[in-house]
Amino acid sequence: MKTAAAHSPDTGLFLTFYGDTVDLLRRTPNDAQTIIYPLSRRASIKDILESLGVPHTEVGRIVRAGQEQTFEKIAEVGEHFHIHPLSPATPPTVATTLRPETVSDCIFLADINVARLAGLLRMVGFDAEAVGREMTSSVTLDRAIGEKRILLTRNRDLLKQRRLVFGRLVRSQDPEKQLKEILNLYRLQDRIRPFSRCIACNRPLAEVDKKTVIDRLLPLTRKYYDRFYQCTGCGKIYWRGSHHDKMTAQLERILGKMQCRWRLPQDQPIPDQARHDGDGKA
Ligand SMILES: [Zn+2]
Repeated sequence: MKTAAAHSPDTGLFLTFYGDTVDLLRRTPNDAQTIIYPLSRRASIKDILESLGVPHTEVGRIVRAGQEQTFEKIAEVGEHFHIHPLSPATPPTVATTLRPETVSDCIFLADINVARLAGLLRMVGFDAEAVGREMTSSVTLDRAIGEKRILLTRNRDLLKQRRLVFGRLVRSQDPEKQLKEILNLYRLQDRIRPFSRCIACNRPLAEVDKKTVIDRLLPLTRKYYDRFYQCTGCGKIYWRGSHHDKMTAQLERILGKMQCRWRLPQDQPIPDQARHDGDGKA
């Protein structure tokens, strides 16, 4: 196999890519997944990577001569950098050379291009706010940074913003595959709590006394169900109703293949939103 050194120009540096960073490259690397980058200007490693199509958010480690590097490192001719992907081994809750600041927990802000992913994350219990149609890129970034949320998006340019520390270029176009991608990447498989969060507005659900919501229930719901949950944000009412089998089957389909430890506890609420117009007592 050719080595990177065999291609060595006098004016370039070497970048070897690993894992799924290779898929993002706008130039084809050699057999060793190495690109020789002509260095014609003073540039940080962040700028060089992004000019090749790899947003800094997608990089977990940069190593040169066995030493971890920062994004601000100014590249020199002849240097060889190894670019490792974001991975479950580099969770955002642990400080690294690239990201000394951490998030305290994996909470998300889902861009409008992955809106259905936000709903699925909520369905399995994770805090996932959604970007509104009226939100500009600047406002989206402000919110992700201000609330220390991981920005999930399919917009590569948005992730190149220097002030954004935590983000993910969601790779799949299929929402269920996107969910698997995020659960795997952030090692969330064992923290799944189906139906603990409001799918509509992302706030947690809390069990409520049937008496407090009885006026909002349809007659049959009132008759056959005794345990109710209410969104602490929007007030929607949930109970273990007719959507139980459908949504459980969906979860089995998505999560079953992941072999992650999840189950549906008997006391977990199942979304089956109360209608307000059923018996005229809303
Ligand atoms: Zn709600």
